[in-house]
Amino acid sequence: MALENDNELRDLIRKAALLNAVSHDGKAQAGALVGRILGERSDLRSKIKELSGIISTIVNETNNLSITEQKAIVEEKWPETQKKKDVEEKRLPPLPNADKYKQIVTRFSPNPDSVLHLGSARAIVLSHEYARLYNGKFILRFEDTDPKVKRPSLVFYDSIRQDLKWLGCRIDAEYIQSDRLPLYYEYTERLIRDGNAYVCVCPAEEFHNITLARQACPCRNLSATEQVERWHQMLGGDYKEGEAVVRVKTELDHPNPAVRDWPALRVIDTKKYPHPRVGSKYIVWPLYNLAAGLDDHLMGMTHIIRGKEHYTNMVRQKYLYQYLGWTYPEAIHYGRLKITGAFLSKSKIVAGVKDGTYTGYDDPRLGTFAALRKRGITPEAIKKMIIDVGTKANDVTLSWENLYSYNRKILDSQTNRYFFVPNPVQLKVIGVPQTFQAKLVFHPENPERGFREYSITPEGEEKIASLWIARKDADTMEADKIVRLMELFNIKVRSKTHDMVTAMFASESYEDVRKIKAQLIQWIPKGEEYPCQVVMPDASVNDGYAEAACKKLKPDIVIQFERFGFTRVDEVNDKLIAYYAHK
Ligand SMILES: [Zn+2]
Repeated sequence: MALENDNELRDLIRKAALLNAVSHDGKAQAGALVGRILGERSDLRSKIKELSGIISTIVNETNNLSITEQKAIVEEKWPETQKKKDVEEKRLPPLPNADKYKQIVTRFSPNPDSVLHLGSARAIVLSHEYARLYNGKFILRFEDTDPKVKRPSLVFYDSIRQDLKWLGCRIDAEYIQSDRLPLYYEYTERLIRDGNAYVCVCPAEEFHNITLARQACPCRNLSATEQVERWHQMLGGDYKEGEAVVRVKTELDHPNPAVRDWPALRVIDTKKYPHPRVGSKYIVWPLYNLAAGLDDHLMGMTHIIRGKEHYTNMVRQKYLYQYLGWTYPEAIHYGRLKITGAFLSKSKIVAGVKDGTYTGYDDPRLGTFAALRKRGITPEAIKKMIIDVGTKANDVTLSWENLYSYNRKILDSQTNRYFFVPNPVQLKVIGVPQTFQAKLVFHPENPERGFREYSITPEGEEKIASLWIARKDADTMEADKIVRLMELFNIKVRSKTHDMVTAMFASESYEDVRKIKAQLIQWIPKGEEYPCQVVMPDASVNDGYAEAACKKLKPDIVIQFERFGFTRVDEVNDKLIAYYAHK
């Protein structure tokens, strides 16, 4: 057949030309297409001249269309190729008072006492996204100033950096609070000298009662000189853990008792609880509001985007700003994002990994980024979901299914499809008239991605073809039932035992069984099976056979097992190990 009349080829070129055109301002490049088409149809290498002629004709036709017409055709015929753009086009509401600042600066400030999980996604994605939207700066700040209760661990600094990288969040500057203690001391001393903070040595219980009564404790009104002396004694180790706290003065009758003279620094016995980075070098450690409050100003933060549970912290920190003559950054407090079933507290995750309940921080049962990554949940899906939820102050509850649906939209057109038969059962088809060459495209809507082929050759007098099918499908079979083996042929079930289904060849064409809505099932020719284990989200394992073509897969790629679901390839060795994402 002359290439000129090969309609399939013409369609392939037309699609490639249109896609190329819409991504190049309406002008497809013939040169780029020749290579592309040859990549998919190597059989045409000997006919390059003829092929180039056809390509150049089609490119001319394509380029004669306006870009609007080109886009309309692409949108109508191959909408899946345009999906990725939708994902990126979603916009967040503008930041308040953005034009007041020369450069927008946002931050994400985790305590490295655990790995990150989905619960942190909102803070990360929104802060990073806004920084990019305004050509600003995104700061990562490790808030590691509690060596005792929320003890940081060195491995988590790294895993947090990796998670941010995976999420596509570029860090413009990184700070670690445990490096900054001298700085916090300096400002504390200033606050104390100015009479805006004091060292309180009252027992906690007593102080609590005094506060509730809106009274000053005996330490509060000591002279600044005495306060500074106490402060130096505190730094010098004269007070043991629990014996002294630096407090920032507020109104004693502040309507929220938790705000009244809030604690800013305390003593920690770092001989007993050494800090993983600075050991026992310091014994006076800042509490959250002092360190975060000072840092937000010192690091030039313009917008703080965080959960509304931090609202009271802002109220506390504003006292610091008032005393130091600073202006508090713009603050956006969003509502809680709950993902049903996804949350485990950080401490439970850490404990569960330590005691072996979980295989690691990427155990598929966990909602950690490491686990999501392992399962083939894309960072784009997480981002899109978070951006869609936006910065609303009301609480939002999402389900795993919501996240899966974002992920599915992204993966469906990108991933190639393969056959997997979990829990395999043998299928014997009798009376197969000839050798069948099954040509299975990797993606029905993107035939240009190519295909793999299997030949099914009948053997013996009875012309028997042997294949593997999933036990689940075998279980639904009964005598006389007509079933279609996808892209192969139709069979009529004759009998079955526990280990084998016997069927008769029925016919080849799908049209024959379309009207009776015959079930379409996946299959693998005997001899073309590749042992495969799919680890499910509940950590159970689905054992079965993947088709031989899967041996060529590279780890980390996400594929779709037909009628089974999306899985991420983890290992390709003597068997395939994959992690299940979702349907
Ligand atoms: Zn006191």
